[in-house]
Amino acid sequence: MSTHKSVETIRLQGIPVSQGIIIGKTRLVDRSRIQINYLYLNGSKESRAEVRRFKDALKSTKKQILTIKNGMSEQIKEHSFILDTHLMIIDDKMISETTVKTIRNELINAEWALKKSVDEIRQAFEKIDYEYIRDRMNDVEAVTERILLNLVGKEHESLANIDERVIVVAHDLSPTDTSELNTDKVMGFITNAGGRTSHTAIMAKAFKLPAVVGLESVTSQVQDGTLLIVDGYNGNVIINPDDDEIIRYQEKQLYHEKYESSILKDSHLPSETTDNYRVTIKANIEFLEEIDAAKELVTEGIGLYRTEFLYLRQKRIPSEDELFEDYREVVEQISPSPVTIRTLDIGRDKFPSEMLEPGETNPALGLKSIRFCLENPEIFRSQLRAILRASAFGRVRLMFPMISGLQELIDSKKVLHEVMEELDSRNIAYDKNIAVGIMIEIPSAAAIADILAKHVDFFSIGTNDLIQYSLAIDRTNEHVAHIYRPYHPGIIRMINFVAKSANEAGINVSLCGEMAGDPMCVPILLGTGIDELSINTEGIPLIKSVIRSLSRKEAMEDLEELLTLPTSKDIRRFLEKRIEGVMPKIIENGLQENIS
Ligand code: PEP
Ligand code: MG
Repeated sequence: MSTHKSVETIRLQGIPVSQGIIIGKTRLVDRSRIQINYLYLNGSKESRAEVRRFKDALKSTKKQILTIKNGMSEQIKEHSFILDTHLMIIDDKMISETTVKTIRNELINAEWALKKSVDEIRQAFEKIDYEYIRDRMNDVEAVTERILLNLVGKEHESLANIDERVIVVAHDLSPTDTSELNTDKVMGFITNAGGRTSHTAIMAKAFKLPAVVGLESVTSQVQDGTLLIVDGYNGNVIINPDDDEIIRYQEKQLYHEKYESSILKDSHLPSETTDNYRVTIKANIEFLEEIDAAKELVTEGIGLYRTEFLYLRQKRIPSEDELFEDYREVVEQISPSPVTIRTLDIGRDKFPSEMLEPGETNPALGLKSIRFCLENPEIFRSQLRAILRASAFGRVRLMFPMISGLQELIDSKKVLHEVMEELDSRNIAYDKNIAVGIMIEIPSAAAIADILAKHVDFFSIGTNDLIQYSLAIDRTNEHVAHIYRPYHPGIIRMINFVAKSANEAGINVSLCGEMAGDPMCVPILLGTGIDELSINTEGIPLIKSVIRSLSRKEAMEDLEELLTLPTSKDIRRFLEKRIEGVMPKIIENGLQENIS
């Protein structure tokens, strides 16, 4: 029986990226970049008013920065010089005077005039061949953003301040926004933008925050305080649900909790098929804080430590010692099992980091990841030193991301060997036999896996990027999310070739993309002879239970057939049949609703 249905119920379908059902009130946050429009002013009267508006915005900006500075706690006070720099930038002639002149002389609005001043500063900075100075442009950009917010009358809301039990609704959230969320309070989030394997999605899973992305225009369909149901299993979002629906979802939530605790109960059992084929199961982590959850579920180690988040959180390059302390802690905590530490895999497509080149038109194909490291040897070497030093405290495997060909691998290994020699000369301990591997996530690397296999100790297949680059589908773009297909015959063939090349060369091959946590993919992975899966911790019990229900012999026979199927749809149907009966109905339903 419905009691409070006075408003319209709206049902939306998005992309589920982090499991769980939440029912609660919304909190709308604005993370969109400020849109700057060009406006022509009508004479000197308007320009005078515009100058006043600009000066007021400068004043408010200064006041806000001073408030932040005065409110800094003792522990972080030493960093207040950053804010002093920002205050100086506001007073700088290049910003204040030039903008005022442009408003007066060219009769254009304050926002556009400020943008012109900043463009000029950027051009001047780009010519300077001194990294430190060039990096100061980031400060100019940060201050400009703040002035613009004041001009348009918006406040930059830190998500860390949300301390109510709410569901966050935003156009998009950056991984930094997500890492700021108070996970004790915020119930989960939904966004207009985003894709299944975006880093924001991965962070939501890491924090166990139910999340649905790619809802296109949900921010315009809710207000602050709207009642919502978010189903992180199948991507359904219900705005203004009625009481019956709330009860139905509460039941579904209970059912899931029961099912999850039942598979959790068996999660200590070995991940062995019915014909005793053993797959090593490891965990993916992004932060040191995830170690406890990982330790509860896996005993075989960390298969992917995504190290970029430490850089991101601090919004600067951490020192070698800071990195070392973090890695040592992970290594010691997980010892005697191994930890695969991946070197910095940073890119503007993944994180809008200040460290990276602004203005790349196509950041997913830009100066990122291993390319960024090779072009910034000091950043790279400092991380390599930290990883090597940590290797003296347990078992570390070192992994290079985004390797596209042999030369890049040789260049990366050369830097590693130079760093090893440097540590030798300083008598610093490290594991001299450290295993060195690469991610296979660029199609060119997959195609020459047989060649690359001779130069490394292990491969880890990064399907998130492998699918993105092979199918030319932006993994963060909600408009193409429906055609992001792990079951594409091209992908299955590539995975098969990489696994075969690794097996023939006698090296270990793991798979660490989100595909490793998809139960439908388990038969493919078993069939291709992958030794190891590395999964977000929450997905481990389910994948283990699926592995224990299948036979490797059958999976190998299936693969023969799968490799002849022409479309993703055919492959999906085949897998659906295979998985039937293996998992309880509820999960099948979730999957069917999920897969297009
Ligand atoms: C991948 O690309 O599959 C992967 C595991 O790396 P990331 O998601 O960090 O790019
Ligand atoms: Mg990747």
